[in-house]
Amino acid sequence: MTAPESVWVYAERHGDGFRSVSLEILGHARSVADALGAKLVALTVGPGDAAARSLARYGADEVVALEHPLLGRYDTRLFTDLLESELRPATPAVLLLGATRDGQDLAGRLAVRLRTGLTAHVTSIEVDPEKRLIGWVPGFGGGIEAGVVCPNRRPAIVTVRPGVFPTPEPRRSAAEVRVVRPTLDEGSFGSRRVAFEPKGSSVDLTRSEVLVVGGRGTDGDFGRLQRLAHCIGAEVGATRVATDSGWVERERMIGQTGVVTHPKVIVILGASGAVQFTVGIEKAGFVIAVNRDPDAPIFEAADLGIVGDLGPIVDRLVEDLGEA
Ligand SMILES: Cc1cc2nc3c(=O)[nH]c(=O)nc-3n(C[C@H](O)[C@H](O)[C@H](O)COP(=O)(O)OP(=O)(O)OC[C@H]3O[C@@H](n4cnc5c(N)ncnc54)[C@H](O)[C@@H]3O)c2cc1C
Repeated sequence: MTAPESVWVYAERHGDGFRSVSLEILGHARSVADALGAKLVALTVGPGDAAARSLARYGADEVVALEHPLLGRYDTRLFTDLLESELRPATPAVLLLGATRDGQDLAGRLAVRLRTGLTAHVTSIEVDPEKRLIGWVPGFGGGIEAGVVCPNRRPAIVTVRPGVFPTPEPRRSAAEVRVVRPTLDEGSFGSRRVAFEPKGSSVDLTRSEVLVVGGRGTDGDFGRLQRLAHCIGAEVGATRVATDSGWVERERMIGQTGVVTHPKVIVILGASGAVQFTVGIEKAGFVIAVNRDPDAPIFEAADLGIVGDLGPIVDRLVEDLGEA
C-alpha cells in the first residue's frame, strides 16, 4: 500500500512560539492539502514539545516535533540533517517554509540535498486541475507574475513571504503529535556560539495597524519619523533604500524583498513608490503619502497625497498631535 499524499509545513520557532509566517502558511496549507487530497503535517525543531503541541490547533493533521534542549539555536547543517531525516522517508508532495532568514537558508540546502526544485518568495499558491502546486512569484520588478511548477521532483519546496496569508484562528484539534528526540551534543553543531548579542528590536510589521514609513527622502532622519510614530501609536517601516543605508533595521523593509503589510493607516514619507515597494502596501487601508515631487508614482497608490517637503510637514504634525 502506498503512503497517502502529504503536504508538510516547516514551523519555525520564535521565542516560546512560532514565527507568524509559519502559522499563516499552516492556515493556508489546509486548503492546499484538501485540494491535493493530502494529509497536512507541521514539522518543527526546537527545545521542549509544549510549543509543538500548540501547533496542532492551526489546522495540521499531524505534528512532527524534533525536540532537544540544544535545539534552541539554529544551525544550518544540523537543521538540514534533521529535516532531511524526516522528509526523505515521507517524500511529501510539497514542503512549505516561511521566507525568513533561516527559512530561506534551510530551503536552499534541502532542495540540493533532496535534488528537488525550490520556488522562492511566493506571494500566492494554487493547485491546478492536474493537482500540481503552482507558486506565484512577482518578477521583472513586479511587471509580471510567474507561476512556477515543480512537476517531476518531490517535495516541491516553496518559501512564502511573510504577511501574504491571514493568521488562522486556533481551534480544537485531534491532531496526532509525534515527538522525535535525536541524540545530540555540542559536536553536532557546525558552528559554536561564542557570545550572543540580541539586536535592539525584533519587530513584526505584518501585524501593525498603523505605520509611518520613510524612504530616501527622509535623508536618514528616522528620529523625526519616530516622533510622529509615537504620537499616533504607529510602528516605523522603511523602503529598501533606507534599510540598505543602515538607517533602520532590515526587518522594517516593506515590499517585494521585505514584508507585506496590512495596516489600517499608513503614512509614507519621501518614498517614490517603486513597484517593488508598493507590493508591500497593496493591502493597506488608508494610504497617506508625502513627497515633494508632484509626479511621484507613490501618489497613484495614495488615498491622500501631500506635495511638499516632509521635514516641516512632519514637525508640524508632531507639534499639533503632541499638543492634542
Ligand atoms: C529585485 C528588487 C527587489 C526590490 N525590493 C524592494 C523592496 O522590497 N522594498 C523596497 O522599498 N524597494 C525594493 N527595491 C528597490 C526599489 O526598486 C526602489 O529602488 C526603492 O523602493 C526606492 O526607495 P525610495 O522610494 O526610498 O527612494 P527613491 O526612489 O530615491 O525615492 C525618494 C523619493 O523621496 C522624495 N523626496 C526626496 N526628498 C524629499 C523631501 N525632503 N520631502 C519629500 N519627499 C522627498 C523624492 O521626490 C523621491 O520620490 C527592489 C529592487 C529590486 C531590483
